[in-house]
Amino acid sequence: MINLYLMVKSYVSHSLIGDYKKHTLRDSSVEPQYDVVIVGGGPAGVIAAIGIARAGFQCLILDKKPRDKIGEKNCGDALDGKHTNILLEEMGISLPTVDSGEARSLIETITIASGSLTTKLSAYATAYQVDRLVYGQRLLQEAEEAGAIIQPEAAVRGVIIEEDQVRGVTYYQNQELHEVRAHITIDASGFIGVVRKEIPASMRFGVDFVFPKKYSVGTYREIVELKQGEHNFQNEIVLLYHHDIPPPGYAWIFTEGKNKLNIGITWDKSIPYPNGKSMKQIYHDILDTYIPPESYDVIYAGGGNISGMPNFDTLVVNGAMIVGDAGGLPDPTTYEGHGPALESGRLAADTAIDALKKGKFDAIQLWSYNKKIQSYPGGMHAQSFLVSQFIQEMGVDDFSYLLGKSLLTEEDLINIFQNKAPVTLGMKIRIFLRSFPKWGLMFRLRKVLDAIEKIDVTYQNYPDDPSDLEIWRKERNRVLGYDF
Ligand SMILES: Cc1cc2nc3c(=O)[nH]c(=O)nc-3n(C[C@H](O)[C@H](O)[C@H](O)COP(=O)(O)OP(=O)(O)OC[C@H]3O[C@@H](n4cnc5c(N)ncnc54)[C@H](O)[C@@H]3O)c2cc1C
Repeated sequence: MINLYLMVKSYVSHSLIGDYKKHTLRDSSVEPQYDVVIVGGGPAGVIAAIGIARAGFQCLILDKKPRDKIGEKNCGDALDGKHTNILLEEMGISLPTVDSGEARSLIETITIASGSLTTKLSAYATAYQVDRLVYGQRLLQEAEEAGAIIQPEAAVRGVIIEEDQVRGVTYYQNQELHEVRAHITIDASGFIGVVRKEIPASMRFGVDFVFPKKYSVGTYREIVELKQGEHNFQNEIVLLYHHDIPPPGYAWIFTEGKNKLNIGITWDKSIPYPNGKSMKQIYHDILDTYIPPESYDVIYAGGGNISGMPNFDTLVVNGAMIVGDAGGLPDPTTYEGHGPALESGRLAADTAIDALKKGKFDAIQLWSYNKKIQSYPGGMHAQSFLVSQFIQEMGVDDFSYLLGKSLLTEEDLINIFQNKAPVTLGMKIRIFLRSFPKWGLMFRLRKVLDAIEKIDVTYQNYPDDPSDLEIWRKERNRVLGYDF
């Protein structure tokens, strides 16, 4: 029954797009045919679609990929259980499981290691190694069942802006240019930000919608299957800070089940690769010493870009919102972006529903999305940015020292890398007592911990209104010590 309904709905909608195009390329006064158009059906876009469609609003997802590939992504595949729990509690979206094939492994331990894998600190963690395609396809199906229309193989190329308001997008399908209009446009297109990058300066409240090279990383990763036996990282994910990778870049070794591993490196995009090597060569130079290449077959290989800075100061403009990687939502230390993308999609859906009920779509109406994001995960990621800059400044040797000297404990690790409450008094006292003879390191660490404490308060005080954004930004930059 549902399928028949969806087929009819989809047919009507697609026909409308065809007819609509004939009118609107000449006539901009035609009513929008969707309440919301979402560009990108990855984690951020699909959760926004589920929320909006369930509330009974007309919602279209455009994605450049074929229908059965939406959700697939070169990724480390780790997904923090905190975010899947929020989806379960707030939206009734069930958790990924190993039995369904959505999770390849359950994670119980996160390890931060340096140099050799023997200098390390491990902590308990609740996370999943997900199969991005299988999990993504399930979420897409939930969006469809809620009434969202999915338009695959639709590559968005442009943004319709009239009277300082985003009114929809243009996209290519079958080499033809189409146009679709909506009350609200959501950019969920990932790092590239196809909508975001077209927004003119006059609409951005002074915010530069670009990721500077020095605050973003390139990545290369392989999923490998051991030829014999099981690996030593069962239910574990390892972040490895290595001499040959300029921090805050790191290598990772994540389990993908008993005999499979997801292994990769991140590399600061502003630093040239040494001796003209490719990312793949650097990856092998480093990781072959830990896991010999003759011991495994490569199943998947690929890479991508991730931002490593606090998310943009505004993620809304008149008529549009930005979610997930498009808004700079990955964690700037771990580059974990899947969970924040899901969360931003959920928060954007709440804001869109409210705006649609009121019939208002300007930035002031959508501003509550900024408020929510800056409260969480925005403030937490600003703290994390300070951690990443600190790791960069001290270098791998001092970081090793910090791990080896137990300046940080398992509890601190959970606080810092799972972002609960990064600074505790116990942590400060311990750092003081154990820092000998590296007092300089202690002072630097103390300084950054003080800034971490203050920056969260700043983010909790994000303004209620765009008119106060400039003052807030100045204060934020002062506390952060960086100019965004
Ligand atoms: C190598 C690598 C490893 C990573 N490892 C981890 C990890 O272990 N854990 C973690 O939490 N995060 C990780 N991340 C980050 C994580 O993958 C992203 O944060 C997450 O996928 C962001 O979701 P999103 O929905 O914002 O964007 P995406 O997942 O990038 O989805 C964007 C969607 O938009 C579509 N699209 C793009 N352009 C257009 C267009 N012009 N027209 C129409 N559609 C378009 C794409 O086809 C895609 O479906 C990693 C990233 C990389 C590159």
